[in-house]
Amino acid sequence: MTDIIIIGGGPAGVSAALTAKNRGKSVKIISNSAELSNLWKAKSVENYPGLPNASGAELMMTFRKQLEDAGIEIVSGRALNALSMGTSFSVSVGQDYFECKAIILTTGIVQQSTYPGEQEFLGRGVSYCATCDGMLFRGKKVAVIGLNEEAESEANFLRSIGCIVEYFDKNRAKKFEIKGEETVAALIADDVVYQVDGIFILRSTIAPNSFLTGLGTDNGHIISDGAMKTTVDGVFAAGDCTGRPYQVARAVGQGNTAALSASEYLDKK
Ligand SMILES: Cc1cc2nc3c(=O)[nH]c(=O)nc-3n(C[C@H](O)[C@H](O)[C@H](O)COP(=O)(O)OP(=O)(O)OC[C@H]3O[C@@H](n4cnc5c(N)ncnc54)[C@H](O)[C@@H]3O)c2cc1C
Repeated sequence: MTDIIIIGGGPAGVSAALTAKNRGKSVKIISNSAELSNLWKAKSVENYPGLPNASGAELMMTFRKQLEDAGIEIVSGRALNALSMGTSFSVSVGQDYFECKAIILTTGIVQQSTYPGEQEFLGRGVSYCATCDGMLFRGKKVAVIGLNEEAESEANFLRSIGCIVEYFDKNRAKKFEIKGEETVAALIADDVVYQVDGIFILRSTIAPNSFLTGLGTDNGHIISDGAMKTTVDGVFAAGDCTGRPYQVARAVGQGNTAALSASEYLDKK
């Protein structure tokens, strides 16, 4: 079992991983590609010490190279959720599960709020993963709200296993609502009702409160204290996901603190 799993491979996650490794902990990062870090979009970063005139992409590649040189494993993919197993956690990525003793969340800004009905029907017709749950809807009608790069191929996968797919890209509808009784019965998209048995909402990030039961949030940010502890024992957070200002130096500093706190937590166990 890994000591610490870090979710998100931006500046905060990289910093946390390097410090945790320095503290003698086994560590794994689960992350989307580097291009999905907010830093990648910065044309030039003028206020991060030591690497003047670097573009965001160059900074990210330097950070990732440092991880590689340190021998830190990066699992490529989107972490879907984490389950507390008492003294450990299980993190799911597609159909794979990874176990760890502590988690550091460094997922960056999650801009999307959830749709009405999304939380209520999560696991009862609403899914974030076609590969994991597609088979449950074989021969049935499903809607796919495609908001990430893989959404179209995920929709094609659902078709290939026999689902009848109603696909919504970013332009087809703007407003969604999910209705049902025990399970999902309909998706309302821009006031048009579609009778469906399942709804796949495919984003590149997962809202923190859908990710882990008991994780406190405030306005979409993960609540954390000065030691970067969250409201869940054994779970820490760092970087843009904890609030403003959204800055690389802050993310790196918080990543460092979160890793030290997580290491201390494990040493006391
Ligand atoms: C255009 C632009 C210019 C900027 N310029 C500057 C600047 O000049 N100076 C400065 O200090 N800051 C700047 N910033 C802000 C800076 O980029 C962020 O503060 C910094 O990237 C935050 O780091 P982070 O690690 O918290 O999050 P991010 O860099 O966003 O990294 C989070 C990573 O986690 C991944 N992730 C999220 N959820 C999951 C999941 N469920 N499973 C797997 N992976 C997941 C994301 O895809 C992403 O790769 C700029 C931002 C932008 C957009």
